Amino acid sequence: MKIQEFNTIIIGAGPAGLFASIHRKGGKVLLIEKKPSAGRKLLIAGQGRCNLTHEGSISAFMSRYGNANKFLKNALYGFDNIKLIEFFHNHGLGTVVDKNGKVFPETERSVDVLKVLLDACIKARVRLLADEPVLKVERINEKFTIQTANSIYTSRFLMIATGGLSYPATGSSGDGYRFATDLGHSLEPQVPALSPVFIRDFTMSELAGVSLAQRSISIYRQNRKFAEHRGDIGITHKGLSGPGILDFSRHMQAGDLLKINMIDTNADEFRNAIIAQASQSGKQEIQTFLKSFELPKSLLRFLLEELQISHSMPLAMLTKDKRIQLIASLCEYPFLIDRVGGYNMAMATHGGVKLTEVSPKTMESKLVPGLYFAGEVLDVDGDTGGYNLQAAFSTAYLAANSMNAKV
Ligand SMILES: Cc1cc2nc3c(=O)[nH]c(=O)nc-3n(C[C@H](O)[C@H](O)[C@H](O)COP(=O)(O)OP(=O)(O)OC[C@H]3O[C@@H](n4cnc5c(N)ncnc54)[C@H](O)[C@@H]3O)c2cc1C
Repeated sequence: MKIQEFNTIIIGAGPAGLFASIHRKGGKVLLIEKKPSAGRKLLIAGQGRCNLTHEGSISAFMSRYGNANKFLKNALYGFDNIKLIEFFHNHGLGTVVDKNGKVFPETERSVDVLKVLLDACIKARVRLLADEPVLKVERINEKFTIQTANSIYTSRFLMIATGGLSYPATGSSGDGYRFATDLGHSLEPQVPALSPVFIRDFTMSELAGVSLAQRSISIYRQNRKFAEHRGDIGITHKGLSGPGILDFSRHMQAGDLLKINMIDTNADEFRNAIIAQASQSGKQEIQTFLKSFELPKSLLRFLLEELQISHSMPLAMLTKDKRIQLIASLCEYPFLIDRVGGYNMAMATHGGVKLTEVSPKTMESKLVPGLYFAGEVLDVDGDTGGYNLQAAFSTAYLAANSMNAKV
């Protein structure tokens, strides 16, 4: 088999690998992709609209990556959301921001984002080899040897940018974890992140599509409150989704009980409000009273029916028992998790290459000189809102520039 030599080899042409290739200056760069074309996950990002990043201050990004916040600090400050937006503007693609601060390309088409990256790779004379899965990676005589079914490639620098395990049909099916461990790295266990949850004996299917803005979600495990979070919630045919659930799903598991405060008012305040209103205007219908709590009409109807409380019942007629049930239903509605969605529906992977073995200042391995990591193959996963793509671009930029700085 013919051996071809490069200065730098980057495995994986997702956002991290493409961005690193564009910014790696000096020497021949080979970007190897397993799938017949690059950036397949990028194309489906943001439901094809590609939520590139978030408009918030970069300091606000620092709470969006769980345990990886500290590790990402250098990368995010070195190449922040403003620089990312500038990059796309300078390459002819403007951006727009939605009401939640999410940044999208102005065309709202992922394919335009991918085109900018691919054109920039051509301009930077990156050699992109698609449909060429890397099978094996070794370090022999201070060089990396990369084997595919057709060829052997060697290089001084190697970057693993193979992504995580989610949506394996896009190409990221965990190969990079194997390459990393073959080279001596260890891994944090992986679980799906940013995934919807399926609820046991779910009775709200007819409400699929209904959403609640900024509600509190508590997780109970073995009868003890384990974690609490706020966010937007969406009802699906078989359970719950929406940013609040997705962002929190990395902490959930089958058998956990979720309690959702449907009215964003605590139980004591709600009880006091019912009692006060019943004594002031006892003839007021319960549905009129509940209007100010901003519950979608269909959900309110469902909850009252479930409790067998007539929506036109005067407040003064509400018995103590029914009042207790109403408070429990609206302030702590219980959902038992049957399962958390798997990798075929998770938007990210929690876990991956252990961060303590990678320098946060350069993205270079602390164990193997010349080996770099970028993107989701690392134990980095962010919230929904553009945080994952920003992390992929920022870590790739840092890694490429760290290589550039080496003589
Ligand atoms: C449905 C969905 C929607 C999303 N939407 C958003 C969004 O709007 N905003 C956001 O910030 N994030 C979003 N994400 C997350 C985001 O897309 C990822 O975090 C990001 O793509 C990670 O980039 P990456 O380059 O590290 O990995 P990937 O994008 O996974 O790219 C890795 C590449 O490596 C290649 N590869 C793997 N193994 C090999 C091998 N052996 N040889 C050669 N090549 C290999 C793969 O084929 C793939 O092309 C979404 C994810 C999903 C699944």
